[in-house]
Amino acid sequence: MTAPQVVVVGSYVTDLCFNCAHFPRPGETLAGTSRTGPGGKGSNQAVAAARAGAPTLYVGAIGNDAFGREAQAFYEAEGIPAHWAIKPKQPTGAAAILVNAEGQNQIIVALAANLHLRRDDLPIDAIDGARIVIAQLEADLPATTHALKLGRTAGALTVLNPAPLRPDFQPAMLKHVDILIPNETEFVELINRLGHQPGQKPLTAKALLKLAPAKLHALCGTLGVPVVIVTLGQRGCFISRADGYLEIPAFTVDAVDTTGAGDAFVGGFAAGLLEHEGDLAAAARHGCAVAALSVTKPGTAPSMPTRTAVSRFLK
Ligand code: ADP
Repeated sequence: MTAPQVVVVGSYVTDLCFNCAHFPRPGETLAGTSRTGPGGKGSNQAVAAARAGAPTLYVGAIGNDAFGREAQAFYEAEGIPAHWAIKPKQPTGAAAILVNAEGQNQIIVALAANLHLRRDDLPIDAIDGARIVIAQLEADLPATTHALKLGRTAGALTVLNPAPLRPDFQPAMLKHVDILIPNETEFVELINRLGHQPGQKPLTAKALLKLAPAKLHALCGTLGVPVVIVTLGQRGCFISRADGYLEIPAFTVDAVDTTGAGDAFVGGFAAGLLEHEGDLAAAARHGCAVAALSVTKPGTAPSMPTRTAVSRFLK
């Protein structure tokens, strides 16, 4: 096995997607159609990075159950190395996703085993040898923080996608982060929670879009992370770091399902960092390309593009 250059520590969740004409009312049983598939932000990001060509190791916690075995079989079929912490007393994470005829969704996610990932479950040697360590906020937070800390100490670049921004998120975690990648909702919430001055009106997503680049750059600076990349859906993303601010436009594609676009971006960005030797702008463009291709297909992990598809798209 090639030594992993990217280690992704985060959640695995089995997605149970149901399409229905309308959302059921209390007590109502509806007929619908369904599909199941691998999901979870951590796993999606690992699949995106690996398919985009980065030698990647996924680290996650699952139960000793059918969904957990499906997770392992999926990684074997994909040929992506994974380090599983098996939690016999916990079920594998699962999400019930209802989609109505208008394409709106309602989701319940039970993170279950993901919340039982522990520090001593982490593969220290792999983290020590990694060039990039990626995490999100769906798995146990102390273990996630520890993974970032180990990565930083060993000289890896640490990337945090602060999603979902849980109430128990501790800003101290950010001191172990080199590159923070929130979407615009998470960015607004982070600013309101951490960078906000008393007496100031809370920032809204609508107000964010009207801010001048210099103001956005200054807001990013209040988070205390060297590099902040905010993804903006079909408007692309912006990068803010000590020496400047840069906007990267999204690619124009026919989107059929934008779920998991942020995960595709993060995985594609990591693969781009390796391919472009740390060039942030080139890596973000790579992330935008991987995300653009992923939204042209339904599903999350299964919609992540291969390295060949990404190269062809970027030619
Ligand atoms: P999240 O899924 O976390 O909300 P975003 O919606 O910001 O994340 O999307 C992440 C990235 O995916 C964007 O920066 C952009 O590059 C790409 N993207 C999202 N939606 C589209 C779209 N409709 N067309 C092209 N690219 C898209």
